Amino acid sequence: MINFLDLKAVNSEYRDELVAAATRVIDSGWYIHGSEVKAFEEEFANYCGSEHCIGVANGLDALTLTLRAWKEMGKLKDGDEVIVPANTYIASILAITENQLKPVLIEPNELTFNLCPEKTEAAITPKTKAIVAVHLYGQISPMPELMELADRYGLLVLEDAAQAHGASIAGRKAGSWGHAAGFSFYPGKNLGALGDAGAVTTDDEELAKTIRALGNYGSHKKYENLYQGVNSRLDEIQAAMLRVKLRHLDKEIESRREVAEYYLTHIDNPGIQLPSVDSRERHVWHLFVVRSAKRDQLQKYLMEQGVQTLIHYPVPPHQQKAYHAWQSQHHPLTESIHQTVLSLPMGPTLLAHEYNKITMLCNDWK
Ligand SMILES: *Cc1c(COP(=O)(O)O)cnc(C)c1O
Repeated sequence: MINFLDLKAVNSEYRDELVAAATRVIDSGWYIHGSEVKAFEEEFANYCGSEHCIGVANGLDALTLTLRAWKEMGKLKDGDEVIVPANTYIASILAITENQLKPVLIEPNELTFNLCPEKTEAAITPKTKAIVAVHLYGQISPMPELMELADRYGLLVLEDAAQAHGASIAGRKAGSWGHAAGFSFYPGKNLGALGDAGAVTTDDEELAKTIRALGNYGSHKKYENLYQGVNSRLDEIQAAMLRVKLRHLDKEIESRREVAEYYLTHIDNPGIQLPSVDSRERHVWHLFVVRSAKRDQLQKYLMEQGVQTLIHYPVPPHQQKAYHAWQSQHHPLTESIHQTVLSLPMGPTLLAHEYNKITMLCNDWK
């Protein structure tokens, strides 16, 4: 059986380093907001090319607290419209509705699955105040064009970079383009902790301070509360795990890129549509997503041949019960994407004989 992603294999590569880092934290006697979090924040900000990094509890909080901070700073208010791709993972949208902002769901670019500058501009109204640019599947959004648009209309841009650590366009990485970016370090993400973790990157010092306070009960100084905040902290032990994993991230991305390159140049079946890549970009292949009109049959066939695949995602947010008020919205392209996408096994420890076999099976499928 070829697993979709073997996390045990991924982490066991660094077992000794992870054990040493965990031991260091255990022996330190200091478990919340200490030297590991501080060091990771510096290292990750440096990796992304941004001024500040704020560790938080998970990726959803990274997005939610950023929008919340902009409200506290007077840059957003209840009911403001936020443009977001309709085909995103639901977390991007939960962060918007949690803040009483209004998500405006728009269709993505069919080839890249990301926001398209033209469709984004067409959705801008006088109430539009922000764009959530989701870098889906490890491919960064067309940030030069989106930032130009945002400048022209005076909009805030929040990157949802949960799937795109290390992805870049025009030589600049995800997390350094928008006014802020939210990252997830959920174990299955390209930079994964050994539990939940997340972070925000930004060049805006006031935003960084506000997010830090919001995630710490609204307190910027012990026992002084500026906001009705929440508890959303990155644990010392997870920061220590992430410092180890960050050192190996670029090597892992290269392994993912090799697998993707093989799939792209060897899978050849008119019934399977391969993903396309903008040539200005470094795609980090969080997921390798193909499309097929007979997706369910393809998935069943691969499973019978011992290959596990997943669907990202089977139901679009506007058709979820959680958003029943949107049942009348129709986004035909998004709906067709959800009906046809299939994620092939992808990861830094996938072996050549495994991706060769998957490729052969895809080519043999009728
Ligand atoms: C994983 C993910 C999130 C949420 O991250 P968590 O750490 O699971 O809260 C948000 N947006 C996207 C696009 C994601 O893939």
